[in-house]
Amino acid sequence: MQPWHRLIKERQQERERVRKERDRKGADQRRVRESNRSLVLNYIREHRSIPRSDLAPYTGLSRTAIGNIVDELLQERIVQQEEHGFGDDRRTTLLSFNATAGYILGGTLDSQLLKVLLADLAGHTIQQLEVPFSLSKGPEESLPLLEKLLRVFVEQQLIPWDMVVGVGLGVISPLALLPRSAALPVALARWANTDIQQVLEHDLGVPVYLEHDGSMGALGESRYGAGRNEGNMIYLNVGTSISAGLILNDQVYRSHAGTAGEIGHIPVEVHGQLCQCGRSGCLETVASGDGILREVQRFIPTLTTLSQVIEAAQAGNAACVGALERAGKYLGFVLAGLVNTLTPSLIVLDGSVMQAGELILQPLRAAVETHSLPISFAYTRIALAESNGFAASLGGVATIIDAIF
Ligand SMILES: [Zn+2]
Repeated sequence: MQPWHRLIKERQQERERVRKERDRKGADQRRVRESNRSLVLNYIREHRSIPRSDLAPYTGLSRTAIGNIVDELLQERIVQQEEHGFGDDRRTTLLSFNATAGYILGGTLDSQLLKVLLADLAGHTIQQLEVPFSLSKGPEESLPLLEKLLRVFVEQQLIPWDMVVGVGLGVISPLALLPRSAALPVALARWANTDIQQVLEHDLGVPVYLEHDGSMGALGESRYGAGRNEGNMIYLNVGTSISAGLILNDQVYRSHAGTAGEIGHIPVEVHGQLCQCGRSGCLETVASGDGILREVQRFIPTLTTLSQVIEAAQAGNAACVGALERAGKYLGFVLAGLVNTLTPSLIVLDGSVMQAGELILQPLRAAVETHSLPISFAYTRIALAESNGFAASLGGVATIIDAIF
């Protein structure tokens, strides 16, 4: 839908312009108009249904200004109106936000799997999809396939592609940081010269936002999952590898470099295993699904998947219980350091390793408690994610919603 794409671009340009011209004095007519439009739209969006007459006292704008803005929003179908009568001559015009005036794709791209969900403009999930997807084939093969999967997925929901407002993708961190990232794992070396965002935006014809999957997961859980209403949160996804993100003071914390949140690469062993990041002794080498599996295989080489390890541990196998306990201790050890540093109100744990339940949670919690300062630990709660593996995809949806409104 053209108005949406225009809206996103305009909002993007507007933010950029506001940033550049912050110090310039004097009112700018367009800026005022844009912010008035946002004021009106967001007021309507935040209420289920409001009488049109409420807008003037709330916004302080003139009736003519409101009339122009509302007419424009009605024309673009972003807002809808209904007439309500009360028996006599009194009639009220009720305005409401039209959440199905456009749709958003939120997705996660890791080295093995594509997860994507389609949501309306209120962030409600309409459908989700999970398909094997390999990045190791390189961008020439993977990106056209990704585009095709996204288009077919939307088509299957009987939604025309031009109603897609934007795509928010959580991507494994080295790719999300391209083209700044020089150190790609060997398996992803072919991506080194590809600007994924640019290629996708060009071919899909919609705005595309890329972000480190850990940050996207943190945003998704903080907006729609276990972290609702939590302004300071650590999100830790422990799967085959580890991805993580930070919400600090209600914002995703990226740092000036955009690289913050790499908790999986906090060093925990001086002479540890080689990590996929090229360093050694990272938390990921001992506490990720692959790290746990490697530890188990020293004793039982016949176990080849994490789910086999979890199953064996649940049946009481000592080597598997021990490997999960070891991973839990390392995770708790690192989290304790973060609790001391940041004192988040919540730590959200996500990822396939959490399927082990108390076998990993109990040693993890105990290690956080043992190694953190009591005064910090007292303010920190530990909870499991609530997005059923779609935290980063929901973060993608939230990113687009934030870009529009
Ligand atoms: Zn590492």
